[in-house]
Amino acid sequence: MTDLLSEPNLNSALNAEYLAARRQAFTCIDELVDTTVKTLLRWSSINSGTRNLDGLNAMARELEQQFTPISDQFNALPLPDVEALTDGGEVIQNRHGKMLSFKKRADAPLQVLLLGHMDTVFEQTHAFQQPVWLDNNTLNGPGVADMKGGLLVIYLALKAFELHPLSPKLGWHVAINPDEETGSLASRFLIAEFAQKAHLGLVYEPALADGTLAGDRKGSGNFSLRVRGKSAHAGREFHLGKNAIAALCEIFYRLQQLNSEENSGITLNLGRVSGGGAVNIVPDTAVGHFNVRCENIDQQGFIQSQINKIIDDINSRQGFDVQLFGGFNREPKVANTKTLKLRQWLSEIGSELDIPVNFKPTGGCCDGNNLNAAGLANIDTLGVRGGNIHTDQEFILIDSLAERAKLSFLLLEKFAVNYEEYLKLS
Ligand SMILES: [Zn+2]
Repeated sequence: MTDLLSEPNLNSALNAEYLAARRQAFTCIDELVDTTVKTLLRWSSINSGTRNLDGLNAMARELEQQFTPISDQFNALPLPDVEALTDGGEVIQNRHGKMLSFKKRADAPLQVLLLGHMDTVFEQTHAFQQPVWLDNNTLNGPGVADMKGGLLVIYLALKAFELHPLSPKLGWHVAINPDEETGSLASRFLIAEFAQKAHLGLVYEPALADGTLAGDRKGSGNFSLRVRGKSAHAGREFHLGKNAIAALCEIFYRLQQLNSEENSGITLNLGRVSGGGAVNIVPDTAVGHFNVRCENIDQQGFIQSQINKIIDDINSRQGFDVQLFGGFNREPKVANTKTLKLRQWLSEIGSELDIPVNFKPTGGCCDGNNLNAAGLANIDTLGVRGGNIHTDQEFILIDSLAERAKLSFLLLEKFAVNYEEYLKLS
């Protein structure tokens, strides 16, 4: 047994017992697909927009029922409120759902963190609320790919892995947050804490429809600006007014200039503005929201200093007060030795299953960025194959549920066999 475990090559390490375990696991996954699809249909019809606390609670109950039978330990952890700026310039506290944590074998030599989110971008007021079959293999519905389908891939893979004779070698922690779609602002501290206690991370964001996974990722920050000036009647005392909209326009114009060739790799998107009222009044408040993406930490530092400089300029003028809210919440994800090892293993497993495994860099962010920032190597698109996420055309390719569950099962098996080699990597 010991010899087999220290053998780095899974194929030569596989004895009849492991092959039988694989067969049993794959049968288990295949047999569970029908039930899993029914569960997905039910979950998709539960609205769990990040701000819908009742919907998130309903999803949390579903997830508790799904995962507790295979876990040793379950916790629903409250998350802090997070400050936000409304379009009217008011500072509010956003409330959040709970973070769910399911653990198995917390004392096993290798600890794997499997991360998912239960929230979707579709709020209760959105028209898109129910799943619809487009054909035998394509289901259109809120969250079917991003990532309620992915949560079910986690379940299937773990359910099968628990049948494996090597399961005692590996402990797992399934963590499911309720605020990923708004940047994990409330759950990021717990994510970082969980990352410290794990050796590697698996995140279940959807892969592209053709199975391509995300490689390196840009970092991201959401910012809001509130400009206060002074109102005055546009006819009688225009000269006494301090126009907040004009000041915001100037700030936004200068921010837009940061999108330039010399700042290649950085994007700054001016996303939304509001302010003012009657046109015969000089407006005293204007609010602007923008998003910044960077390839590396140095760029983040550079952009932050440019933003501060522009704001300081306006603040130095009499009668204006500009306040900045938000900031960078996701660091760029750049692969290290361990990440590359994980990608290599996944590619090897893909070849065994005849599933092409390719990685492509992306400007999009997810909790894989957060895990990476906390020092935890991870692969973050292990969920289902699908597409058009964040739109009412979102779809999942149903055959990918079993396919991706098998991929994850074999990955867990690979970890259980090779964990000593992995732990030695720096
Ligand atoms: Zn997602």
